[in-house]
Amino acid sequence: MRYFRTTLHKHPELSGHEVQTAGRIHQWLAPTQPDELHTQLGGHGLLARYRMAQPGPSVLFRADMDALPIPDEIDAPHRSQNEGIGHKCGHDGHTAHLLGLAQLLAERPFPIGEVALLFQPAEETGAGAAAVLQEPIWRNYGPDWVFGLHNLPGFPMGQVLTRDDVFAAASVGYRIELFGSTAHAADPFSGRSPSLALQRLAGHLQAHPQPHNPLGWNLATLTHMRLGEATFGTSPGYGLLQCTLRSDDDQALDRMCSEWQPLARRVADAYHLRYRDAWLEPFPAVRNDPEATGRVRRAAATAGLAQRELTTFFRWSEDFGHLTQPFRAAFFGIGSGKAQPALHDMRYDYPDALLSPGLRIFYRIAEDLLTG
Ligand SMILES: [Zn+2]
Repeated sequence: MRYFRTTLHKHPELSGHEVQTAGRIHQWLAPTQPDELHTQLGGHGLLARYRMAQPGPSVLFRADMDALPIPDEIDAPHRSQNEGIGHKCGHDGHTAHLLGLAQLLAERPFPIGEVALLFQPAEETGAGAAAVLQEPIWRNYGPDWVFGLHNLPGFPMGQVLTRDDVFAAASVGYRIELFGSTAHAADPFSGRSPSLALQRLAGHLQAHPQPHNPLGWNLATLTHMRLGEATFGTSPGYGLLQCTLRSDDDQALDRMCSEWQPLARRVADAYHLRYRDAWLEPFPAVRNDPEATGRVRRAAATAGLAQRELTTFFRWSEDFGHLTQPFRAAFFGIGSGKAQPALHDMRYDYPDALLSPGLRIFYRIAEDLLTG
C-alpha cells in the first residue's frame, strides 16, 4: 500500500485529467481479478466488482483520486514530479486504502455478497461523483450500502469521526463578470467602471450571514475579485467577482442562491453594466444514513480504532453528497495526526501510518456485512 500511495503522490494529476492515475490503478487491480472492471466512468473513474461465492448484501467503497493545483513542498523521495500539482488532500492515501482492500479480497474473499470499489475522479471540482452517476452502469446495479472516508489532519491519528445526518455542508460557487467601458484615467467619468458595483457586491457578501435560513447555518465567502488591468493610465471597464455560498441544508442553499443572483443582477443594472453570471462547482450536503453510520462505529470498534462523535458538521464540502442521495450511505473522517499541516497546505503529505487504519475499517465494515 505504501508503494501505491507514494507512486500516486509522485505523479499527481488534476481533476478530470487522472489519465496516468487511472492507468496505474487498472494495472494494480488486474492481479486481484475482479469479476467486473469498468473504466472511464465520469471521465477517468474505475469500478471494480468482486462477487463472493453466495449471494448477499452488496457494499461499495469509494475513494477519490485527483490532486490539486498546489505545489508539493515536501522533502521526500516521493515529492511530486508534476510542477505546481500536488496530492495535498490525501486522495493518494484514499486510493491506496481501496487498492489494499482489493488485495485482501483476492486473498481472503467473504462467503456472501459483493464488494465494489469505486475510484472516483474529479472530487475537488465537485464534478466527479455526479459524472460517474450519469453512467449507464447504474441502471442495472445499485449497492445496498455505500461508504467513504476522508483523512483529517488536526485529529489524533486513526481516530474515527462520525456524525449522523449532515456530515459536510452544501456549497456552490457564483461568478459574475461586469462589462462597462474603459476611459482615460484622467477622465474616468466618460467611461463606465465596474468599481462601485464590485464594492457594493463585496459589501453585501461580507455583511453575511443573513437570515436566509433561520433554523440552520449559512455562509457566503468572497473568494476572488478583479477590476480592469494593473495600470495607472486607464479607468477599468471590466470587473469580476467570485464567491462561494454554503449551507448545511440543500434547500436553504437554493434559497440563498435565488436571493443572491437577482441582487447581483440588480447591482449590475443600477450601474448600467452588462453582466454574465454562472453557478459553478455545486456540492450537495453530505447527509449520512444513521444505520450506515452505525456500521462505521461498529467497524471502528472491531478494528480497535478510537472514536469521536462530531457535535457539528464540517463547513467544507465533499461530492460524496451525490452518493448519499440515491444510496444508503455514510461518510466519515479518520484523523491523520494532530500535528499535521492542514489539508491543501503545500506541506501536507498523507501519513503512511494511516494506511493500515483506513484499510482496517473498510475491511471490518465489509466483514460485518458479508460473513452472513
Ligand atoms: Zn479531499
